[in-house]
Amino acid sequence: MKQLIDKLYHTTGLEPDEYKTLIDSRNEDLYEYLAWRAREVRTRHYGHDVYIRGLIEFTNYCRNDCYYCGIRKSNRSAQRYRLTDEQILECCRTGYELGFRTFVLQGGEDGYYTDEKVIGIIRSIKKEFPDCAVTLSIGERSYESYKAFYDAGADRYLLRHETADESHYAMLHPEKMSLKNRKQCLYDLKQIGYQVGCGFMVGSPYQTTDHIVGDLLFIKELEPHMVGIGPFIPHHATPFAGKEAGTLELTLYLLAIIRLMLPEVLLPATTALGTIDPRGRERGILAGANIVMPNLSPKSVREKYLLYDNKICTGDEAAECRYCLEKRMESIGCRIAVSRGDHKACIQKTA
Ligand code: SAH
Repeated sequence: MKQLIDKLYHTTGLEPDEYKTLIDSRNEDLYEYLAWRAREVRTRHYGHDVYIRGLIEFTNYCRNDCYYCGIRKSNRSAQRYRLTDEQILECCRTGYELGFRTFVLQGGEDGYYTDEKVIGIIRSIKKEFPDCAVTLSIGERSYESYKAFYDAGADRYLLRHETADESHYAMLHPEKMSLKNRKQCLYDLKQIGYQVGCGFMVGSPYQTTDHIVGDLLFIKELEPHMVGIGPFIPHHATPFAGKEAGTLELTLYLLAIIRLMLPEVLLPATTALGTIDPRGRERGILAGANIVMPNLSPKSVREKYLLYDNKICTGDEAAECRYCLEKRMESIGCRIAVSRGDHKACIQKTA
């Protein structure tokens, strides 16, 4: 099995049945070998730097009804909120002082934020913080909208594909959402010039090894700049309330595989990973990840942006999270970089 890891390390790709074998025959020894290789590749490209992204969860209104997500439209118990433009800017100011040079605007698919509103927010952030990158994570929109956001200064876009398999996609989403459209969005975003991130949940309900292999092949084909993966964690007020969470072990294994597939990829150790294990994020970095995304949202709304149960850091101030992560990263020999942390292949857009 180590030969498969060596092959992946040297060629950055495997055949579908080889991925399947590598995943299905995983054990602790293989993981140690895989993670050692993944760390070596990460260090070669990014040293011991871990990049930070300031996450601003600016709305939890959503028109969609994804079965796994706590802010789905049908969850009547969710207390909905929107941040004002001024509140968003205030988050950026706090973040800038703390060394953040990327702001991630994430939210549900909220019709209140018309293209003009989103453009206004991007422009005001770029005006006040011209040395910072703006990442959007606001779901599916038209090519024209994506283009307009890009022209207004947005640099990156996160849109997890969730699963690359049609039938599995239909088990996670209502009928009116389609994988075809989601994939098209990702190709559009890439074509426009964004640094693009796709990704999926590990251990989402009904997920099989074949689905995961399909996800890896799709990732390899899209060649995104970023890949967001984290364990599925049930939310009590969703149709998947009673389903099992994904595991730390499989998530770490897949993080390491993805680092070997895309050596320069920007790969976060997600909040969900930190939620299922107290040292989940550190372990994610040790599996080849190189990003952490602490929360910059105002304390007053944090408990309302609950995609899943038991989310960590909902009671903390931005500064507490920042320093806590710094200590965590130092404990594993890494350091937090104060920089935009662009993908190596991307020349910085001028502001
Ligand atoms: N509305 C935006 C942002 C979605 S939230 C969009 O559509 O892209 C960001 C990610 O959180 C989702 O893509 C999903 O993969 C993840 N997520 C949602 N519910 C989750 C859960 N219960 N457990 C783990 N991750 C979840």
